[in-house]
Amino acid sequence: MKISQFTNETIASFNHQSDMLLQILIKIQYQYSFIPQKSITQLSKKLFLTESNVLAVIGFYSFLHKEARGHYDLRVSNNITDQMLGSLELVELLCDKLAVQLATPRKDKRVTLDTTSCTGMSDQGSAMLVNGLPIVELNKKRIKTICQLIESGTPVNQWPKDFFHIKNNIQRRDILLNDRSDNSEAIRVFLKQGDKKLLKQIEFSNLRGRGGGGFKTGFKWRLCKQTIAKQRYVICNADEGEPGTFKDRVLLTTLPDKIIEGMTLCAGIINEDFTDHSVSGLIYLRGEYQYLRESLEQVLQKRRDAGLLGKDILGKKGFDFDIKIHLGAGAYICGEESALIESLEGKRGIPRNRPPFPVNEGYKNQPTVVNNVETFINAALITIHGADWFEKIGTEQSSGSKLLSISGDCAKPGIYEYPFGTSIKQILNDCGALNTQAVQVSGPAGSTIPAKDFDRCIAFEDIPTGGSFMIFNQQRNLLDMVKNFSAFFVDESCGFCTPCRVGSSLLKQLIDRVHQQSVSNYDLNEIKRISHLMRDTSHCGLGSSASNSVMDTLKYFPKLYQQQLKLTDDEPVFDLQAVLQQARQLTGNDNV
Ligand code: SF4
Repeated sequence: MKISQFTNETIASFNHQSDMLLQILIKIQYQYSFIPQKSITQLSKKLFLTESNVLAVIGFYSFLHKEARGHYDLRVSNNITDQMLGSLELVELLCDKLAVQLATPRKDKRVTLDTTSCTGMSDQGSAMLVNGLPIVELNKKRIKTICQLIESGTPVNQWPKDFFHIKNNIQRRDILLNDRSDNSEAIRVFLKQGDKKLLKQIEFSNLRGRGGGGFKTGFKWRLCKQTIAKQRYVICNADEGEPGTFKDRVLLTTLPDKIIEGMTLCAGIINEDFTDHSVSGLIYLRGEYQYLRESLEQVLQKRRDAGLLGKDILGKKGFDFDIKIHLGAGAYICGEESALIESLEGKRGIPRNRPPFPVNEGYKNQPTVVNNVETFINAALITIHGADWFEKIGTEQSSGSKLLSISGDCAKPGIYEYPFGTSIKQILNDCGALNTQAVQVSGPAGSTIPAKDFDRCIAFEDIPTGGSFMIFNQQRNLLDMVKNFSAFFVDESCGFCTPCRVGSSLLKQLIDRVHQQSVSNYDLNEIKRISHLMRDTSHCGLGSSASNSVMDTLKYFPKLYQQQLKLTDDEPVFDLQAVLQQARQLTGNDNV
């Protein structure tokens, strides 16, 4: 089909809505492997946007491109746990066998090779995406076969099925993963008890957001309910981008009905009465999980057919609620709720100023509840089993259980569900981790926990977590982890505010120099100074948490840094060769 015809039809299929720009671009990207200039011009005209608006959105998302990618578009997951499993060597092997350079399409346009942030497969890495589809358990043998398949032009849907087999790896179940309740039970309880009583139950249960922030869910729902408006939104944040996390992937695969039931329940509760207001739902699904879209659409349709979504749900007049799925396109910052809302509105995912908070002015400036996948499931379970049942599990300030995505140096990586209050020691024991040096809890933005603190617990009042739990044994160099994380934040900073945009780059340069043993005490102090500055002055949580791992390792593993010192002076190390190399690259002149 001609580019102009496909673009026109795509725009029409999204009703010419400019807030669907991102979804339209994703569709065009999948069709052509890039966004042709012709499409950009058409989009600008038909959606009444400037071309620079469209280009800015394309430039923001790492899965959108203005230049054609290869027929086979490979993205190898670059998370530290993938690197621990040998991903860097596999990338080298791919470059070598395919005669391709990173981020540059091969001359014959057959293949492009790139690295990308964590693809959410850390329990079965190394992993990569091929034309958007995840391949796991990569090893040299698989890489060689993949290279042959590419050179022979074999379509991806004819590649060996086991390459694409994603395991759930559920290793420990507790209240949530053990639940076998019917998928309409929470809605039936809601219809019997009513919104006010059930909102109180959610509040009494002390359910807190499972994405990491820990905001009280009942309070959030009440604030949204109290805001006067004709239209409200319920958004499920399925943009699981924190490196090392994959529990939402497993929940989206195994318990999609319960997620949707939780969202439906929320819609019922925040709707003061069923005549005057309207509530709509959206699932923001990270681009890396687009392969799950079809099965989620099927679950939505099944629920519509069963009267559990759509008009007059379970016969209750005016209880209307339906859900649409929007895809992300490779931007970690869109996990932040206000950036996610911007992205849903088709824009660059730049975090908003707060207040106003999304519960008052969220999606399309209407009151909006944004909750994590796991939070919605918990809300449905509380409705069925009661607040007392839930509150009894966990600790005083952290009720219920938490799903952990465990990866790294252990015998049994996978999903572990624990009551809050479980110690790190217990978790390490269960997953078969030996000689553990440190655990990184909650991803690069989280905390590095040294062995002396393994008696501490997973809980909001002790070690809070969104679910990522990466294990490093005594043989690992923790500076590799810090280096990987500093590069991650440079890639993922949205660039909106200077402390984060510039600070993360400066931090990366200094950490790279630590790695190369080219630093002095002055440089270590400089790392601390920049870290404090970023923490205190960044616009959002990404910038303020970007230096966590370097600060934690400086505190708990000072020898690691001391042994890298080239000079102990309070003068910076000046690396003449590095500066000259930079000048050569910038000027293209090797005589510099
Ligand atoms: Fe963007 Fe970083 Fe500033 Fe957050 S802190 S708004 S990610 S530049």
